Amino acid sequence: MAAFSFDVSASAADQALLIALDRAMLIAEFDVEGILRRANRNFLEALGYSEETALGRHHRLFCQPHEVYSAAYPLFWQRLLHGQVFSNLCERRHADGSSRWLEATYSAIRNPDQQIVGVIKIATDITIRAALEAGLHERNQRLAMATDAADASIVMCDQAWRIVYVNAGFTRMFGWSQEDVIGREPVALLGAHLFTEGGEDAVTGLLRGQTVHREEIVHGRDDQRYWVSIATQPVLDSRGSLQQTVSLISDITRPKLHEVLQQRVLEAMAHDQPLVDVLDLVCREVERIATDVATSILGLDETGHLHPLAAPHLPKSYGEALDGLEIGAFAGSCGTAAYRNEPVMGDDIERDPLWADYKQLILPLGYRACWSSPIRAPEGHVLGTFALYFKEKMQPTSFHEKLLDTCSHLCAIAMEREQARARIRHLAFYDSLTGLPNRSLLLAKADQVIAIAQREKRSLSVLFIDLDRFKQVNDSLGHNAGDELLCSIANCFKQEFRASDVVGRLSGDEFVAVLIAPTASIGIAMFPADGRDMETLIQHADMAMYEAKTSGRGCFRFFSHEMNKLAQERLRLESALREALRDGRGLQLQYQPQINLKNGKIYGAEALARWKHAELGDISPRNFIPLAEECGLISEFGRWALDEACRQLSQWRAQGLEIPAVSVNLSPTSFHNLDLPRMIIETLARYQLAPADLTLEITESVLLDTNPTTFKTIHEIHALGFRLSMDDFGTGYSSLSYLRRLPVSEIKLDQSFVADLEHDDTARTLSEAVIRIGESLRLTVIAEGVENAFQRQMLKAQGYDVAQGFHYSPPLPAEAFARWLADHQAGEEDVDATG
Ligand code: C2E
Ligand code: CA
Ligand code: CA
Repeated sequence: MAAFSFDVSASAADQALLIALDRAMLIAEFDVEGILRRANRNFLEALGYSEETALGRHHRLFCQPHEVYSAAYPLFWQRLLHGQVFSNLCERRHADGSSRWLEATYSAIRNPDQQIVGVIKIATDITIRAALEAGLHERNQRLAMATDAADASIVMCDQAWRIVYVNAGFTRMFGWSQEDVIGREPVALLGAHLFTEGGEDAVTGLLRGQTVHREEIVHGRDDQRYWVSIATQPVLDSRGSLQQTVSLISDITRPKLHEVLQQRVLEAMAHDQPLVDVLDLVCREVERIATDVATSILGLDETGHLHPLAAPHLPKSYGEALDGLEIGAFAGSCGTAAYRNEPVMGDDIERDPLWADYKQLILPLGYRACWSSPIRAPEGHVLGTFALYFKEKMQPTSFHEKLLDTCSHLCAIAMEREQARARIRHLAFYDSLTGLPNRSLLLAKADQVIAIAQREKRSLSVLFIDLDRFKQVNDSLGHNAGDELLCSIANCFKQEFRASDVVGRLSGDEFVAVLIAPTASIGIAMFPADGRDMETLIQHADMAMYEAKTSGRGCFRFFSHEMNKLAQERLRLESALREALRDGRGLQLQYQPQINLKNGKIYGAEALARWKHAELGDISPRNFIPLAEECGLISEFGRWALDEACRQLSQWRAQGLEIPAVSVNLSPTSFHNLDLPRMIIETLARYQLAPADLTLEITESVLLDTNPTTFKTIHEIHALGFRLSMDDFGTGYSSLSYLRRLPVSEIKLDQSFVADLEHDDTARTLSEAVIRIGESLRLTVIAEGVENAFQRQMLKAQGYDVAQGFHYSPPLPAEAFARWLADHQAGEEDVDATG
């Protein structure tokens, strides 16, 4: 075949270039008419012609008819002849009619005068490549048909991450058509948070040709949310650069919800978290996934009432308002869902008849829709409800439906488990017959209550209740009747005792109740025995109540006529005592000497109160002192006694009598008065006495006094330099440790020990022990009630310092005491000699 020959004037280099071109390319030359004048072998071969069949033919011969007859064709030639250069992909016609694809450049040939004399065409045959590409296109088409049929969404993007293709599955899932999304970026389209985490890694992976898997929450056209799994496959070209990505997106919302929630919830349950915490967690997880909802979980009790269990984002007041809501046919979304045992989608609360009575609770909070689903036990009965609240009116979306479904299932597991645990707890800690706490729970609860009472410095009472003649019920009526009786008694207890009380069944017919101290004393009067009209009954009940109070409070007393008599007497005594204290008539102090056993000298004098009433006669201090306490006269009485004793001591001193000190008895209540130290100091000052002149006798009962000021006052008095004497030692409080806590300088052995000294070894041992205690604590010990020389002798032998009693003198009026003292001092030597 002919080679393409060129102008001989061309240089050698140009010649070489042209030869190379001739080998590589298709070359043809047309005249201005379009007639082929020359063509190289490549051209002729590519189109299936010889020089003979081709040369002299028009360019049209080599084109497909649709191009020749198109308007573009003459235009093409026209422009060429105006000097324009064309480079294009051209479809050309082979001699056999088939198409050939050429990438061709046409340019004009000019003569030396710059006139256009022809057109030269240089081309490469790309038919094979075009065929390949067309095949690829077709394959893509077929692939698209296949992917459209698939359930999953498929998204293809170009190198710039712009969508070039989505399948029908994508449209079905997200709602956007292909036209809606072409050219957009998936991240912007499906959710701004897509690829926020690890996005760079994903891109790097794709660029390296790796498939990237991700799980994301995305949203579709209507803001509908999906939990999806995305597998993105890069398509690289032969040089390894990214051409396209193909992503397969599958909806994993339901399994994912299940997995995430279930995992967290089961984990919480495995850690034994309380039910409300687990449910709270469910709510919070859901609200994290579905940011537009507020959740609420209500529990259903056996009586058909709902109670809030968790609702972390709804105001507490809303939960409180719903607490106790009775389920029913028109009870909001939750109450109705629980009632019907099926989900209720309240998509417009404002207009929903179910919400008619409740909407005013929720609308002000800004919620417009509420979907609720019953939480069902495996057996199908309702345990509670799980609800989603929306700020907008909402038609059900499948995402939220899945959420509801998954969550109510999980809540059911948690609630079921709680019930099972409660059953087990119940079996372990409750008596199966009566349902009351059994011994172990009773003890555990009682420990708690005791600890609380201790912390709050409160008292509490323990009632041990044993049914009378229970055995007879069992024996005569049978065990079933016995059980029935126990149950009805237990029911009474359950109803009567407060939530803070602890009641339990110990065994058989024994029950124990622990109550925080009843703060009431109860007096009971019975009709008709104690009175026939209300006035009398109340008066008598009042007396009985008074009696209950004086017997230690927190108890009850029945009225009795004996009580009535005593009460009447007390009333009379009380007003008499008031009178006596007011004008000092009938009240007197008598003095009993206390003798130093070592030398027979006077150690002091104890002042003892006497009351002689004009009509009632002599009244013992053992009667009127407690009375003064009860009717609030004791402080006044103490002040009087102190004043009187000090006055007497200073008078004696003025008369020249040597009396080292006077002892005054003070009752525990006197120490409640914070003013007592000041009052004592003033009294002393009034009579020019010193603290060493006065001893204050207190009894062990001050230790039982719970008034906090008592100890403070006692210590203050001690600090002022007064002696404190512990009276009636050995009779009351059994612990000796108080001797260290109370700043006493003297103890008085109770007279009962002295009285028994003669014929009771134990009394002797005890009096011996008391003097040893006194010695070791360096306290003066006084023996009281010494009535004879034997006792005096024995006590002296045991080492007692001081004695007091009828053996020396009974308590005497002041003048008699002065005379006694004069006699005593005169005969001191004798006493000492006999001592
Ligand atoms: P106390 O403080 O233990 O007084 C001693 C009691 O024993 C006095 O009874 C006294 O008369 C009596 N006594 C003295 N020596 C003998 C004895 O050898 N044999 C026997 N059997 N008894 C003897 P009194 O005077 O009837 O006082 C009874 C209680 O009344 C006192 O017991 C004291 O607790 C209280 N009391 C008396 N006066 C006052 C007072 O002014 N204020 C207060 N708060 N209590 C007083
Ligand atoms: Ca005394
Ligand atoms: Ca005494």
